[in-house]
Amino acid sequence: MQQNTSNRINRINESSTILMAQKARYMKENNIEVIDLSIGEPDFNVDEYIKISAKKAIDENFSHYSPIPGYKDLRLSIVDKFKRDNQLNYSIDNIIVSNGAKQSIFNLILSLINKDDEVIIPKPYWVSYSEIVKISNGKCVFIDTNIDTKFKININELENYITAKTKLFIFSSPSNPTGTIYKKHELEAIAKILNKYPNIFILSDEIYEYINYVGKHISIANIDNMYKKTFIINGCSKGYSMTGWRIGYMAGPKHIIKSCIKLQGHSTSGPCSISQKAAYTAISSYPNKDKIQDLMKRRDLVYNNLNKIKGLKLYKPDGAFYFFIDISSFYNKKYKNNIIKNSTDFTMLLLENEQVVLVGGKDFGNDNCIRLSYAVSNNKLIIAIQKIINFIKNIK
Ligand code: PMP
Ligand code: GLU
Repeated sequence: MQQNTSNRINRINESSTILMAQKARYMKENNIEVIDLSIGEPDFNVDEYIKISAKKAIDENFSHYSPIPGYKDLRLSIVDKFKRDNQLNYSIDNIIVSNGAKQSIFNLILSLINKDDEVIIPKPYWVSYSEIVKISNGKCVFIDTNIDTKFKININELENYITAKTKLFIFSSPSNPTGTIYKKHELEAIAKILNKYPNIFILSDEIYEYINYVGKHISIANIDNMYKKTFIINGCSKGYSMTGWRIGYMAGPKHIIKSCIKLQGHSTSGPCSISQKAAYTAISSYPNKDKIQDLMKRRDLVYNNLNKIKGLKLYKPDGAFYFFIDISSFYNKKYKNNIIKNSTDFTMLLLENEQVVLVGGKDFGNDNCIRLSYAVSNNKLIIAIQKIINFIKNIK
């Protein structure tokens, strides 16, 4: 049926994070016990005080279309959040609220990128960046990185990737899928280079801002002249465990935010009115620190158990809730007569034989690795670890 669909849709891949989570859901529906470490979503319930706001919003009849960029009080609470947490001064016109951070990213890339404009993206990257750039007809220019530097770019080489067509630099810190966080001096070094190029914007994906185990979050928008060329992406999905409520937001230069509002006005309109009222309460408070502590303990549990397994190469991530593990030492070896050739073979064999769901690294731009999301209970993690170890024992 490919001949009926547009070239635009034919050139993009399905989201592998979503695909693997769908597989897990399908197996559960068919009464197969699976442990799903695929999708990046905290297993915590939404805090009661946030739920109360949503219920109140229903009772108070917030049931009508909202303004396209979001309710004014919510946008003002985001302005306050940037002052409170990031010492950044924005006005309401710098802010747009969307249906999840994914839409914020979509809005920005579609508003900025023309055919053949180049977008620099360090590998590994979150799966949707590259596909949204392809939808916009732009060209991804990838920077290779190495597990030995926790997948940070070699900043001295950044300038080699810049051409007259470069329009945007996209990165996430804390990173999905690597959990790596850039330090202040590293952000300063990146800023020093990008500052030389007035036509290059930065998409700084800070959705994991609060899931940071090593210190206070620093945004590249805090550095030198970066404020005027940076778009910060954030939202309620990760820090407040509100993935299904679909509230993300973006802050950046007003004229481009205005274009994003125009685009959103023709796609989804304003985000869900009830979710926005809940998001106002969430963003006006700081996320629950106990949950972050809990995630840190889960990280340590996974690290302490998997780090000693021969053949796995990993490090202790500084933030987010993922491990990006090099499994390439198992390539060209056999599991029950199946040769493991790549990360997809590894994840599919693990799924079929041990019912543990991970995501292969290929769509994150590194086929030597698999991604493990540890935002599930300790019990599930302990069983999953044992199953992964069993699986590896049988690779010959
Ligand atoms: N950016 C990154 C790095 C992510 O991991 C995700 C996944 N949630 C998103 C953006 C999109 O988040 P949302 O659920 O708010 O759309
Ligand atoms: N961002 C999460 C992940 O990487 C959720 C799924 C998605 O939107 O890609 O797993």
